Amino acid sequence: MKYFWSHEQEVLQKAARRFAEERIKPLRAALDENDECPVDLIKEMGRLDFMRIFIPKEYDGMGMGVTELCLVQEEFSRVCGGVSCAYSVNALGSYPIVKWGTEEQKKKYLPKIASGEYLAAFALTEAEAGSDASAIKTTAIPCDGGYRLNGTKIFITNGSIADVYVVLASVNPKKGIRGITAFIVEKGWQGFHFGEKERKMGIRATHTCDLLFDDVFVPEENRIGAPGRGFLIAMDNFDHSRTGVGAQALGIAQGAFEESLHYATKRIQFGQPIFAQQAVKFMLADMATQIEAARSLVYNSAATVDAGEKRIGKCSAMAKYFASDVAVKVTMDAIQVMGGYGYMKDYPVEKMCRDAKITQIYEGTNQIQRIVVAQELVRELSK
Ligand SMILES: Cc1cc2nc3c(=O)[nH]c(=O)nc-3n(C[C@H](O)[C@H](O)[C@H](O)COP(=O)(O)OP(=O)(O)OC[C@H]3O[C@@H](n4cnc5c(N)ncnc54)[C@H](O)[C@@H]3O)c2cc1C
Repeated sequence: MKYFWSHEQEVLQKAARRFAEERIKPLRAALDENDECPVDLIKEMGRLDFMRIFIPKEYDGMGMGVTELCLVQEEFSRVCGGVSCAYSVNALGSYPIVKWGTEEQKKKYLPKIASGEYLAAFALTEAEAGSDASAIKTTAIPCDGGYRLNGTKIFITNGSIADVYVVLASVNPKKGIRGITAFIVEKGWQGFHFGEKERKMGIRATHTCDLLFDDVFVPEENRIGAPGRGFLIAMDNFDHSRTGVGAQALGIAQGAFEESLHYATKRIQFGQPIFAQQAVKFMLADMATQIEAARSLVYNSAATVDAGEKRIGKCSAMAKYFASDVAVKVTMDAIQVMGGYGYMKDYPVEKMCRDAKITQIYEGTNQIQRIVVAQELVRELSK
């Protein structure tokens, strides 16, 4: 299908594909095998301007939108869903500053994120606050000149390799959701420590760990938005970023599909390529169609966000859960098309299958996405 990309978007897409093919692909199997996060490669993304895309021009960015971010995300994910995750979470950790930050915060942090000097992360989840993010227990109690931050965040992507973190904490636990506030915290501040690196099923090239805050002083000027606005900022951030998870899922599915299609045309059984078997070619036709449907939803959602629509929760949730369900199914089917070889680590599809699973879970599980969609359906009905 034709997506009518502009010349600029096509150039960007080609640059992302080249980087993925030439720089990520040769490393992906070893990164997965060794559970290794390629910090140098992520720095290289910065040097090649991939981090500038979504940063406004006034802060040394390119001022592009979610569409361009998704184009790059899809290309990186087509090769490795782990490396691409580090890239997209940098955007997740930056967007609250872009949208809600003060002029001073933007000037201080965004040019460094744009250049790749700083990598960003977003810390909301806690042991007892996953889908129910309103249940966070981390506190940021007001003190002279700022706040004292105490608590533990879990499963944080870009964990200890990030430089700057948007952290959600309550300034007043008695106020529940209305006490939750967003802060910018820098690596190296006294009392800010990291847990052990998590060992994961997939996206093993991303670094994931706990963040431990032991009486960390956060200056007043590092609060994002008004006290009590943090939950809204977090939800707005997810509405904005979930399309990107859709693009990650889409890229993983596309990569697995291409591997299995290529294999099906080469693998000879019963004297002919297995693609000649109707059972196999129908499976591949279904995979291609599901991917194209996911791509339509993802880029439609991205265009809706970039058009400045106010209510983007439904389209981004639809894009995220549809594309991630497609990714899990397509990567499984890719293994099926390739039979026993697909199950082996000699081919990348078993890794793609493991990488795909997370896209149904993070930034809100697909059950939560369906709730978001259903709530919006009811709201639209009552208008
Ligand atoms: C690899 C990885 C990276 C991550 N990166 C980050 C990060 O960078 N920053 C961050 O803040 N968080 C991060 N997370 C956390 C992630 O967003 C949460 O894991 C996710 O939101 C689900 O929360 P949970 O794991 O506590 O599951 P739970 O909330 O305990 O859910 C368990 C099951 O119950 C279902 N469920 C729960 N409530 C409902 C409901 N109301 N209706 C229907 N079903 C429900 C869920 O869908 C799920 O199937 C990451 C997680 C992982 C695994």
